[in-house]
Amino acid sequence: RRRHAAGRAAAPAVTRDGVTVEVGANVGSPADARAAAEHGADLVGLIRTEFLFLDRDAAPDVAEQEAAWREIAGALGGRRITVRTLDVGGDKPLRYLPAPVEANPFLGVRGLRYTLRHPALLTDQLLAVVRVARDVPVSVMFPMVSTVGELLRARRMLDDVIAREGGGPPAGLRVGIMVEVPSAALKAATFAPYVDFLSIGTNDLTQYALAAERGNPALAELADGLDPGVLRLIDAACRGAGERVTVAVCGELAGDEAAAPLLTGLGVRELSVTPPAVPAIKEAVRATDRAAAADLARAALGRPDAAAVRALLGAGR
Ligand code: PEP
Ligand code: MG
Repeated sequence: RRRHAAGRAAAPAVTRDGVTVEVGANVGSPADARAAAEHGADLVGLIRTEFLFLDRDAAPDVAEQEAAWREIAGALGGRRITVRTLDVGGDKPLRYLPAPVEANPFLGVRGLRYTLRHPALLTDQLLAVVRVARDVPVSVMFPMVSTVGELLRARRMLDDVIAREGGGPPAGLRVGIMVEVPSAALKAATFAPYVDFLSIGTNDLTQYALAAERGNPALAELADGLDPGVLRLIDAACRGAGERVTVAVCGELAGDEAAAPLLTGLGVRELSVTPPAVPAIKEAVRATDRAAAADLARAALGRPDAAAVRALLGAGR
């Protein structure tokens, strides 16, 4: 097995004025996890668990999922991994489960809405997470959360799994949600008592904030994560999270070097990006002064559109 990157690549990303921003990787396979290690990722900030569920005739069992998360954690040398529960539904049906026909799949039964309706799937995922979390630090997060009620139902299922396994909650287990729905960003303080972290999925958050479908090329210019409306939602999430709850960004905006000072200034303390982008994002954090970044962030929130924000950041597109 190839080794975790050494030297500057593996060193933490600390701003000029001493604030650490963890730079993680988004992975969709064990091969991605090996690439993450080679590029010096501090953690895996997002495992897209869908890769284990698509293009097959039955769901993976607990043992197969456990083995996959262990392989990913092993590649990272025991650094923290973040398992996102299954994020399918709507436009990504599973062959082996009946899919509802919906006029607007992106506004339909997807993410946590889907797995709460298929509790056996969610329970198996949580069981695999709890077992791996006995040995390595694991964060689990739920996608497409709109209300605290949904989160509490998922948390109760996690509590049931922990009770069934015995031994109490694993020491390194953290629980969080993805912030992808604008109302969830605005309700960050409402969610905060029930989570250890928030991870902002700017791909979906942008799509929902601007009512512009993320994959539609005709709307690519509109669906821009630097739109001040999206930035205000990120700001609201950071403020609502408070001191104890960490805020991460795992959407594509996290991989934009020019956005690193802006996100740091808003209060984001973890960026999770594609593995090859890790070194450049770490350098962007190291070049940042948090106090100046906070001023930059305030200024960005007042700009009229994404182009003006990009000009402020001194980045082309
Ligand atoms: C996001 O929505 O920003 C995200 C990270 O999740 P995905 O791209 O898998 O929907
Ligand atoms: Mg998403």
